[in-house]
Amino acid sequence: MSEKPPDDFKIDPWSSNALLEEDYERLIQEFGIEKLSISERERLKENRFFRRKIIFGHRDLSTIFKAIDQKKPWAVMSGIKPSGPFHLGTLTTALEIVEFQKMGAKAYYCIADIESWEDNGISYEEAEPYAVDQLSDILALGLDPDPKKAYIWRQSKETIVQDVCFKVGRLVTQNMLNAIYGEKDFGLYLAALIQVGDITLPQVLDGVQPVVVPVGIDQDPHLRLTRDLTRRYYKSYFLPGATYHKLLPGLDGTDKMSKRNPNSYFDFSESIESIEKKIKNSFTGGRKNKKEQQELGGQPDICMIYKIEMYHFEDDDEKLEKIYKDCITGKLMCGEHKKECVERILNFINEHRKKKKKLIDKAREILGID
Ligand code: SF4
Repeated sequence: MSEKPPDDFKIDPWSSNALLEEDYERLIQEFGIEKLSISERERLKENRFFRRKIIFGHRDLSTIFKAIDQKKPWAVMSGIKPSGPFHLGTLTTALEIVEFQKMGAKAYYCIADIESWEDNGISYEEAEPYAVDQLSDILALGLDPDPKKAYIWRQSKETIVQDVCFKVGRLVTQNMLNAIYGEKDFGLYLAALIQVGDITLPQVLDGVQPVVVPVGIDQDPHLRLTRDLTRRYYKSYFLPGATYHKLLPGLDGTDKMSKRNPNSYFDFSESIESIEKKIKNSFTGGRKNKKEQQELGGQPDICMIYKIEMYHFEDDDEKLEKIYKDCITGKLMCGEHKKECVERILNFINEHRKKKKKLIDKAREILGID
């Protein structure tokens, strides 16, 4: 068992600091995140993020199972900050929301433009093209915008989230926010309360129902704040549940994908040549030379080529398993594997762009942006 975390151990949803493997264990213990049981994972095995243990923990998934069993409504809520093009690091949450929608959830999707102002200084107007672009991306990834199955909003235009922010604001003190987030600009605290509004919106808008919020562990402070305020203000509501995925490290072997380091990720709008170059330069678990690789085998567990395939680009479990085995037994060489991976990803990007092009007008219409 890992040691108790120091009193000042905090995760910061706005920082690009990486979380280490041991941090996950600490967080699970300190903040009461539940681990997935074998039977829960089995129930969700259609979803590769559960099956492949990319989602490692949750809060209150049992309320979702109960709603599914009783054929009652339930919701998935997530969002994106319109501060740049859609990129590899945001793909996990986007695909998770699509998967939950396919399982029967109504999807609530927020364009966090207040947060992109508070965190990145991007005005609401400057955020509009990014919002259209990113929404077209997620529609191309499979989000069904049918109003019976989805509700999509911009924070700056949605009165419900602002209303919730003011209502719960009476219960919030500077000390509370300081304890959860550390000392921050007042604007970020305000953005956090707006996110409380986002997470609460499904129940305000469509009635009391269980809600799951798929997030990277770095976003857990928002969940904790929302659950605390729901308990105290919206007493008849379900506490929002969550699933937590492990964050992908940087392509170049750095701890985290970060905008400050363009080689650590690629975005979906950059040139094909640039994407190709970044994948080819990715950090692998390969050995010094061919002979050593044949003798010792490669190390897929630390290899970014293997990781991005596991997360996003290889659907077939048997093929993935074969890659793993061939790697560790020295049958697969990094050059050959990278070439295949580049081909697969570039095909995916080209197909994605074709689909996305047809959905831009739809995204404009949904967001009310000309
Ligand atoms: S063979 Fe493939 S999976 Fe194995 S270390 Fe090289 S690139 Fe990674």
